[in-house]
Amino acid sequence: MGTFDGKVAVVTGGSRGIGAAVAKRLAVDGASVVVNYARSAAAAGEVVAEITAVGGRAVAVKTDVSNPEELDGLFRETEAAFGATIDILVNNAGIYLTGMVDEFSSEDFERTFAVNVRSVFEVTKRAVPRMASGGRIINLGSIVGERVIGPGLSAYGASKFAVHGLTRGFARDLAGRGITVNTVAPGPIDTEMNPADPKINPAADFMRGLVPTGRYGRAEEVAAAVAFLASPDAAFINGTELTIDGGITA
Ligand code: NDP
Repeated sequence: MGTFDGKVAVVTGGSRGIGAAVAKRLAVDGASVVVNYARSAAAAGEVVAEITAVGGRAVAVKTDVSNPEELDGLFRETEAAFGATIDILVNNAGIYLTGMVDEFSSEDFERTFAVNVRSVFEVTKRAVPRMASGGRIINLGSIVGERVIGPGLSAYGASKFAVHGLTRGFARDLAGRGITVNTVAPGPIDTEMNPADPKINPAADFMRGLVPTGRYGRAEEVAAAVAFLASPDAAFINGTELTIDGGITA
């Protein structure tokens, strides 16, 4: 028996990085998983293939979550694959655009907020009517949503502060319906967004230097925290941030 047998999970941005690790972890623990993606069809297909190869259930659904007009399609396809109820929503899709305030474009600011913030609101708004008591919502925040750790992070940081704020507001809104809402706030995690290899990421050594444990985190370590918050053991944890940063913010 898996922790999530019979449950349906929707993971936005499930094609790569942390979202892919979350999708696989929830599926291994028994959930039927919707692997949402915007562009990376092949990568989303690989996540689904890995899940089904070990007897799990998953479908890939292409939706740009920053575009509210596409969101009804995400829920239509979820229902067609796994039925009308959603048990676990992981708002993971995100982008990381950086630059000094006087060089950062207004378009990039808008885009950052459309993907990282508005999608969390718009996806959650549509998921909640499909969730019952016991439902779980987990949002991907960041330690940069708590403390801006370096220059060039104002828009991204502000978007993650906003995610932490939405989590707390949603938790207040939904507690009476038995749905919990929490944030996981990772430090540097080795993905295409933030590679640990200094040859492809000039900021990697700076980031690693901030971590008392001296290494980047792994996407699977974030997925484990998401799985815990989605589990019945976390029923009394609500409206808070679980930091996964090797001690950076200690
Ligand atoms: P990646 O860039 O590796 O993956 C991002 C995922 O989001 C991809 O699956 C991508 O799919 C999807 N995505 C992006 N835009 C959209 C969109 N408009 N609609 C649907 N899906 C979209 O990032 P990570 O895995 O590193 O990050 C995941 C989350 O964790 C983000 O919210 C990020 O801010 C947060 N985070 C990451 C940290 C890190 O160090 N890596 C640290 C702290 C927080 P596609 O390719 O199909 O567009």
